[in-house]
Amino acid sequence: MKNNFDAIIIGAGVVGAATGYYLAQLGLKIAIIEKDYPTAGSTGRCIGGVRQQFAHPPTIQLMIQSVKLLKEYQEELKWDIEWYQGGYLFLAHSEEKKESYLKAIRIQKEFNLPVNFLSPEECQKIVPDLNLEGLIGGVFCPTDGQVNPFKLTFSYLKEIKRKKGKIYTFQKVVEIKVKHSQIIGLKTDKNEYFSSPIIINCAGPYAKEIGKLVNLEIPVEPERHEAIVTEKIEPLFPCMIVDYREDGCYFVQKYKTGNIIGCYTPIPNIPGYSLDSSFEFFIEMPRRMARLIPKLKDVKILRQWAGSYEMTPDGNPIVGETPIKGFYLNCGMCGHGLMFAPAIGKALAYYIVKKEYLLPLQDFSLFRDFSKKEIMK
Ligand SMILES: Cc1cc2nc3c(=O)[nH]c(=O)nc-3n(C[C@H](O)[C@H](O)[C@H](O)COP(=O)(O)OP(=O)(O)OC[C@H]3O[C@@H](n4cnc5c(N)ncnc54)[C@H](O)[C@@H]3O)c2cc1C
Repeated sequence: MKNNFDAIIIGAGVVGAATGYYLAQLGLKIAIIEKDYPTAGSTGRCIGGVRQQFAHPPTIQLMIQSVKLLKEYQEELKWDIEWYQGGYLFLAHSEEKKESYLKAIRIQKEFNLPVNFLSPEECQKIVPDLNLEGLIGGVFCPTDGQVNPFKLTFSYLKEIKRKKGKIYTFQKVVEIKVKHSQIIGLKTDKNEYFSSPIIINCAGPYAKEIGKLVNLEIPVEPERHEAIVTEKIEPLFPCMIVDYREDGCYFVQKYKTGNIIGCYTPIPNIPGYSLDSSFEFFIEMPRRMARLIPKLKDVKILRQWAGSYEMTPDGNPIVGETPIKGFYLNCGMCGHGLMFAPAIGKALAYYIVKKEYLLPLQDFSLFRDFSKKEIMK
């Protein structure tokens, strides 16, 4: 039959592409079905940061694996995905923040991460133009980094096609077929039917809508986050700078091009699917960046946009099996899907095909207790 596959992935963002890449590598005939074009969702709207500095041990383990894979991809995927290990610097402007970072460092050290709490002067050695006013110090991990989300996603897709996988674009999944609690296929808005015993929900902020097609409640809620990119300037700093104050922000200079790209988490959060840009962000974001690095005050903004974080009740992804046989989840990335994608895509693919846990995916199960929250947010 024409549209018969071993596994079908819904969504051609970085998570769907990574999952498909590893399933195809394990010998499955796969299809990815995308309602728009690849990277049209959150993936093409993210700022490209990859960090291992979390407080949740399973997340740290996954991120360490992602960093390892990203290093190897330069050769494996035969494309320059612009992976660069310039580090992440989390700034502390209060004793309370310093304490929470020190607590996280103790957990991270158990996994041999080279993280250290630095004095303001040591922070300035990494970011020479950093404003030290009110700064108590910062935590730095030199092996964190940045990657180009478009190049990473399209290099996975290129390899999937090389392995005879199919990518269907501009087709929305509108129906999922289940028989005796087992997945049998799906239908798109082009009235095309695809059959498969396995479907993986990689629909990012739309994961909950996909769940509704099989009467499954998936606790993933979209939240609007805006971002900005500046003109290219001379290299000023190598790392992602994170300021978690209520009126803080985070930004990184793209090492390959020199543009600075960044965003902040609005307070209060903005739930919903809106991708509108706001004038408030356009004014606020450059002001916050220039407060940290005064030298940026005359740098021109090229563009602003918005995307969705895909939030879960505890700030961690939802991955793995569901009560419907053959229906898997790889969603709810909570604004960290780019960095999760390599490890989480590989781990889920190995679980589906070999029932093998490469990494502690059990901790990301739909059936877990959602009451404990990630503190490195
Ligand atoms: C401003 C901003 C900055 C960010 N910065 C970072 C960062 O620095 N580092 C990081 O790791 N993460 C970052 N993120 C988060 C990251 O972008 C996401 O977590 C990640 O891209 C999620 O990937 P995904 O493949 O799960 O989802 P998506 O990229 O959204 O892909 C899901 C796809 O599913 C498709 N789809 C949905 N419904 C259907 C349907 N019914 N039929 C067919 N297709 C469907 C969508 O069109 C979409 O293309 C940021 C996000 C934003 C908004």
